[in-house]
Amino acid sequence: MLHIAFDDTDSRAGRCTTHLAFRMANKLQKEMGAQMLDYPLLIRLNPNVPWKTRGNGAVCLRARVADPGRVVDYVRQAVEEGSAIGAGANPGVAFLEGEKIPDRLVQFSSLAMRDVLSRQMAEKVAHACGIRYYTFGNGQGLVGSLGAIGCPMLDCDHTFELIAYRKEENCGKPRVVDEHRVVEFANRTFPLTFNSYDPNHKRILIAPHGDDPVFFGVRGEDPAVVESAIRAIAPEEELEGWTVFRSNQGTNMHLQSELDLKNVKAYTAGFVRGRVATKPVAVEGGHVMFSIEQNGVTVMPAAVYEPTGLASIAARLEPGDAIEIGAGVRKGTTKHPKILNVEYLLVNELVPVFDVANPLCKNCGRRMKSEGKGKGYQCERCKFKDAGAQKLLVPRERLLKTGLYVPTPKAHRHLTKPLQRYGMEKKGFAKRAAVTI
Ligand code: ATP
Repeated sequence: MLHIAFDDTDSRAGRCTTHLAFRMANKLQKEMGAQMLDYPLLIRLNPNVPWKTRGNGAVCLRARVADPGRVVDYVRQAVEEGSAIGAGANPGVAFLEGEKIPDRLVQFSSLAMRDVLSRQMAEKVAHACGIRYYTFGNGQGLVGSLGAIGCPMLDCDHTFELIAYRKEENCGKPRVVDEHRVVEFANRTFPLTFNSYDPNHKRILIAPHGDDPVFFGVRGEDPAVVESAIRAIAPEEELEGWTVFRSNQGTNMHLQSELDLKNVKAYTAGFVRGRVATKPVAVEGGHVMFSIEQNGVTVMPAAVYEPTGLASIAARLEPGDAIEIGAGVRKGTTKHPKILNVEYLLVNELVPVFDVANPLCKNCGRRMKSEGKGKGYQCERCKFKDAGAQKLLVPRERLLKTGLYVPTPKAHRHLTKPLQRYGMEKKGFAKRAAVTI
């Protein structure tokens, strides 16, 4: 068994790591006798890594091959030739032989989901785990490659994405996708597909906008439902082809560890449970800022950005509310400290909130006026005086419900778990069997 992974083959100017994987998997299977043991894996890593091109995705192919040496030579060359080296890509390609994925590699991958790791650390792990690797440019792609190989994707939640690719001559031309077909497909396949369309903003989400070869990508719960998109969307444009990836997209895999706010590092990701420490304030741009207290001690600012659609929800929080947030840590600057960028908000408990009001007149029921500090109250209408009357605490209706709030689909990151997937998580992937792609 040979595990093949690569990353950082693309730049903003074009190319695409999944496209290379699509072509490579075809060639391995059809021309080199490889037996694929899983769908090609599209593994999304820490979305807060500052040098990512787009969605911080890496790919891994797991196959049974007769001549590993020949496959390694072909893949190394394909990555070198198929990458935008010199134009921003810094590819890394890695090979692991055998069934077992070493624990140290699994740990590295798990860290790569939520932390920033160095190329040096990746090299150490590669040597310790007997991984053969090649790097080009500055070689940062090795981190993503190991992150992908080390993510077994067997005992965890996962999703599928069908990605359809354009012919080379069409790359750069506008993509024509029929909105009605997308809406119809999204409605008909709900809840088995997700993030095809954002009904709140009437926006198609399956097609990217750049010059890269992806025509569209459709995400869902099983291979059959995402494959059905080809006929349902029926693009006019002739495609190069398509393939189905298995992925950690839509699973919140990056938010599974609790952040320790005492020692939190920039660019890391995770969740925080605590209480709202300061009243939320709206700032320019419609964003909302508040702070969260962890373990009753450590307080840190949190930001809810307007495009997530969660700012108006966060604005209704009150100090003392028990919440959990999924968050990425924004780097501090000379102007502001580190900030938690909120990715979901779970409201666990709402504290009662009171408004302070003057007492009501015992004689006529009208609200009374204070006579001065410690001098009691007088009714302005009937002039009734009450020296012993006290201010009243009037419970204010909370315009917020406990529960989970996630961003609107158009603001989702690749790893964001859509609301509809809560409760639909898969426990794992059945034993690796040969897969024809
Ligand atoms: P695309 O989504 O189009 O594939 P991308 O967003 O994946 O592009 P890359 O060009 O792959 O962008 O760049 C991401 C870079 O960050 C790669 O070099 C990858 O190895 C590296 N990387 C990924 N995860 C981490 C991490 N946790 N720590 C440090 N580097 C990382």
